[in-house]
Amino acid sequence: MSVSTSSAPATGRAASSILDLIGRTPLVRLPRFERETPGVELYAKAEWQNPGGSVKDRAAVRMISDGEKAGRLRPGLTIVDATSGNTGIAYAMVGAARGYKVKLFLPENASPERKLILRAFGAELVFTSPLEGTDGAIREVRRLVAEDPNRYFYPDQYSNDGNWRAHFDGTGPEIIEQTAGRITHFVAGLGTSGTFVGTGRALRQYDASIKLISFQPDSPFHGLEGLKHMATAMVPAIYDPALADENLGVGTEEAHRLVRRLARDEGLLVGISAGAALAATLNVARRLQSGVVVTVFPDGAEKYLSEAFWTADES
Ligand code: PMP
Repeated sequence: MSVSTSSAPATGRAASSILDLIGRTPLVRLPRFERETPGVELYAKAEWQNPGGSVKDRAAVRMISDGEKAGRLRPGLTIVDATSGNTGIAYAMVGAARGYKVKLFLPENASPERKLILRAFGAELVFTSPLEGTDGAIREVRRLVAEDPNRYFYPDQYSNDGNWRAHFDGTGPEIIEQTAGRITHFVAGLGTSGTFVGTGRALRQYDASIKLISFQPDSPFHGLEGLKHMATAMVPAIYDPALADENLGVGTEEAHRLVRRLARDEGLLVGISAGAALAATLNVARRLQSGVVVTVFPDGAEKYLSEAFWTADES
């Protein structure tokens, strides 16, 4: 047996910390769904492969390192923010790795799995009224920081440019590279809007003919955790409503149905907003003769496994 000394070890070099493993996620093709969209290629960015399990790792590490560089985040300060879950998990992970305390405000009805993960990373949790959703959590965290501004670093993901810039510098260029510049349409959901705005701006700058399609829940009362119904929510300061060529509404049941199909037909165990992303992607792709449509699957299914929709009857 001959041993080659010229090739690099298969596993590459060691990462210098868990934070080095954020980003550069795979782009996965959806061949079973492409049967329904002849001539159109469908791809999803596998964001659940980030070490904290979601797309929000990208924004969190960027906002925290921007805070350190600007001198606003110093040793001894506590990182605080309002989060429906994934950003909180990302802050908790990054905070642990960088040596900061993390205190999070979240609606009491956030999924039990999320609360357990946050506690496991050592974050302190403050529960706010489920009736007021994420907006209620935002109001509470602002009150705390206003009372004692010198103790806290408040990244405020809804108005922090680092949120969308993480995608402008990361997600967008990665998609261009992974499609060899062939992407024609980009589809993403709106939560803080960081993913859509940052990736969209990078794609637009690369090729102004790429179509940008955002989507959001089709009603104020929805089960699309992580997404916002903009007409009735506090609109994030970083949101740029002029960016999208089209803005679609997606229903919760449709998202649930497609999450089940992604698991059973493609072997992809993803979260509910990924099902919603696929609904919007299929809506776009069905109207095309040809194209390369790319979306983002923000997280995996682990945090939603106790929900009833997995076993709901297929209709
Ligand atoms: N899906 C899930 C599951 C999320 O947690 C989030 C973040 N709120 C989003 C989608 C939307 O991402 P963004 O905040 O970048 O708009």
